Amino acid sequence: MEVEYLRHGVPLADYPLTKADHRRQREAVQVHEWVQRQLAKAPPWSDKHLEEMRQLLGPPTPPWELQRWRLRLYCGHVIEATRNRNNPRPDGGGRDEERCPECGLNPAVIVAFEPLGPAAEPPAESRSLMSSRSTRQPPADRRSKAELVAENNALRAELEVLRDQA
Ligand SMILES: [Zn+2]
Repeated sequence: MEVEYLRHGVPLADYPLTKADHRRQREAVQVHEWVQRQLAKAPPWSDKHLEEMRQLLGPPTPPWELQRWRLRLYCGHVIEATRNRNNPRPDGGGRDEERCPECGLNPAVIVAFEPLGPAAEPPAESRSLMSSRSTRQPPADRRSKAELVAENNALRAELEVLRDQA
């Protein structure tokens, strides 16, 4: 199934922030601070819990399942980021922000975006495997705790969206 990628504004053009942008940024900061407070209260993850998360998440998303986007962030910086290629826009799935690699603003909401193209072409031998995540081999690599936590949060956000749609 081909996804039709959407665009919003022109990331490289001058862009005056709107009231809605300021409000979204304020809300994103509030959510971020709330999450940070919860994380600070939560007990540290045990090795067992980390291992369970690794099993649950499987290997990192291969690059050919990612779409590249040009994003203009709240701070005015224009960056490139990737999302799962099934998402028609980069600010869906409960994730409409990035940490700006230029100035470090975190979170920085996305105010304009355009699709750039796939992150990589699929290797020929894995095309038939692409649609069946469950048949993948266990991860050969080890992901960092920060990556696991980030992916866990992203998955939760996606679940929230799916639940809202149901
Ligand atoms: Zn920035």
